[in-house]
Amino acid sequence: MSTDYCEAGRRVYEQELRGFLPARLFDAHVHLFDGSCLTPGTVFPERSIYRKFGGVFTIEQCLEWAAALLPEQEFHLNSFGHPAPDCDLEASAAYTGAVSDNRRFFGMALVSPEDSAESVVRRIESHRLIGYKPYHAFVKGKAAGEVTIRDMLPAAQMEVADARGLAVTLHIPRAARLADPLNQAHMVELCRRYPNARIVFAHIGRAYYLNGVVGLLDGIAACPNAFLDTAMVNHEAVLEYAFRNFPRDRILFGSDAPVAFLRGKSVEVNNQYAYLMGEPYEIGTAIYDAAHAVAFTYFYYEQLRGIRRAAERAGLSSGDIANLFFNNASRLFTDVAARNHGRRKD
Ligand SMILES: [Zn+2]
Repeated sequence: MSTDYCEAGRRVYEQELRGFLPARLFDAHVHLFDGSCLTPGTVFPERSIYRKFGGVFTIEQCLEWAAALLPEQEFHLNSFGHPAPDCDLEASAAYTGAVSDNRRFFGMALVSPEDSAESVVRRIESHRLIGYKPYHAFVKGKAAGEVTIRDMLPAAQMEVADARGLAVTLHIPRAARLADPLNQAHMVELCRRYPNARIVFAHIGRAYYLNGVVGLLDGIAACPNAFLDTAMVNHEAVLEYAFRNFPRDRILFGSDAPVAFLRGKSVEVNNQYAYLMGEPYEIGTAIYDAAHAVAFTYFYYEQLRGIRRAAERAGLSSGDIANLFFNNASRLFTDVAARNHGRRKD
């Protein structure tokens, strides 16, 4: 399926993003998978976001979307599969490896806490991946709201990440997210106990509203191996807070594509957030604008817009912006790939 990009999107790009975005953009948080990654018989629900993309989101589709939305940028990415119980983790690691070249495209294995350290190593080595991504939905025998970071990342797996200097992208669990005291303790413990692992806290710790971030980055900011990715955060004040209170050379731009290629915007409401949706797909706390009261653009553009305004407010230099959009991620993942898989020959 091709993109639904149109003139209104072009105007957003021309008027608000062109001239702000650097020549190269590294998206550190992308979900890529084809049909082979899904367990046989998988059917996505009618309102699943993947229905928009034909039930898969391949690298070819991603590059087509990126070319539409970012017509002048060289696009690099770090990808992982579709983190859900209907994903075949081995097949997904193989797909991720097949689409990664460790130059422009990097990839992580999805891991369940039940996977042995040996199987994690095998996935990473045989597919030349740069780390892994656990997910709370892979933890069994606990209510979703009770899952802890320790449940998601067993010590044996973290020892592998530490020994090899791997990157781990972590979507933190629990309703209070960064404000959860157990999360705070486990996040800092993870960074300190495994100082050679690079821990990327996805979605700025899932802080989509201001109260969810203020005062809550200090613990991990003090850990040199802690990183943030900005995936799905379009909130200017949250982004500004991160730019002012977290080392800028450890913030990675990420989008959460393909979710970011839907039309919508995340909005703060009364110390919560909702996804206002211009299309009838269901993600998290979605509110669909069925009456078409407003014209939406892509979450991807809303994120870039939010970053632009936050960067202006926080006084980011053009060097900071190039680092955020490209150098921080490229440096991190290139280094992990070189340590683990050797330097690629030209
Ligand atoms: Zn994601």
